[in-house]
Amino acid sequence: MKRFVYADNAATTQLDKDAFEEMKPYLLEEYGNASQPYSFSRKAKLGLKEARKTIASCLNASPEEIFFTSGGTESDNWALKGVSSYDKTRAIITSEIEHHAILNTSAAIEKMGCPVVYLAPTEEGVITTDVLKALISSNTKLVSVMSANNEVGTIQPIKELCDVAHKYGALFHTDAVQSVGHIKIDVKHLGIDMLSASAHKFNGPKGIGFLYIKNGTQINPYMSGGSQESGLRAGTENVASIVGMATALKKNIEQISFNTTYIKELEHQLLTKLRKIKGIDYKKNGGENTIPGNISLSFRGQDGEMLLHRLDLRGICVSTGSACDSVNTHTSHVLQAINLDKSYINGTIRISLGKHNTIEDVDYIVEEIKKIICISA
Ligand code: PLP
Repeated sequence: MKRFVYADNAATTQLDKDAFEEMKPYLLEEYGNASQPYSFSRKAKLGLKEARKTIASCLNASPEEIFFTSGGTESDNWALKGVSSYDKTRAIITSEIEHHAILNTSAAIEKMGCPVVYLAPTEEGVITTDVLKALISSNTKLVSVMSANNEVGTIQPIKELCDVAHKYGALFHTDAVQSVGHIKIDVKHLGIDMLSASAHKFNGPKGIGFLYIKNGTQINPYMSGGSQESGLRAGTENVASIVGMATALKKNIEQISFNTTYIKELEHQLLTKLRKIKGIDYKKNGGENTIPGNISLSFRGQDGEMLLHRLDLRGICVSTGSACDSVNTHTSHVLQAINLDKSYINGTIRISLGKHNTIEDVDYIVEEIKKIICISA
């Protein structure tokens, strides 16, 4: 029987119901502008203050180090442009497998005359310290490497990469959009200077995120205007979404061990059941250390677009690569960078399971993949 299975949690997640309930009063009753001094705005101001504190405590940061933005893309733009505009002569190092929020920002920075260097991953999608050491110098201003890849899920050795960057006097930024709320992140332990996050990837609302900026980091404002966010990011704060983001993150962090075990078990079941199907030739991308539930599969000789649409007809949502890139149908830059064999590359789909998925969802996905591939073979 046809069911609906949402298995594209790396693209976006379902809004947490508690987060929605926390947001409601700020949309309907407590709609005051948090910057106004009168008593009606007091609740909005307090909501903002509490949310900043909650988010900071989830990452072991200080509240004044959390700056609200419109999401991952803005945070990435701010981190790179805000630092490079300080000193256009020193280089930025990033990786070939970053999200386009970083890659296209890097291209824009290059056009403005700032050199950018791109690190190549291993075939498992890892950016190693050896690759960074070979290219970094005292002329490097900033190193930006994502903490987990959105297409193949690989978790990067962030602490080690950050240590190398600091040894050469460079700042370290990580696009943690895929990992915040899904794996434990302690910014002090990792030593990072900046971190980008987006609420809709951890069951918060869309269009809201934050940039963690370590105290003392030299960075220019991204948005000019009013004096919100300590004068660094202007614009009236989206209090309801900020409160929803904080609620969703706190809940995910409180339940992180349970969620990880649960989602990893679903992933294990999916891969075990898939392995049992005879006559299907596929590879799992991204190595062993991946974000729970992020399963990138490349089926030899298949067409990923065709698989996506046939799964869609059966009520299953998956992705072919990066969902934020769905208008671009060219071969994924990540799959190319990890040197995936040509006979597999076009047959890639990303199944990303989340805390709302069930074992019945997994059984249905595997059963339908089997029908599609075995019938078209
Ligand atoms: N960075 C990564 C790794 C992502 O996966 C995404 C979205 O898919 C973004 C940045 C962009 O985030 P947002 O949708 O909040 O702009």
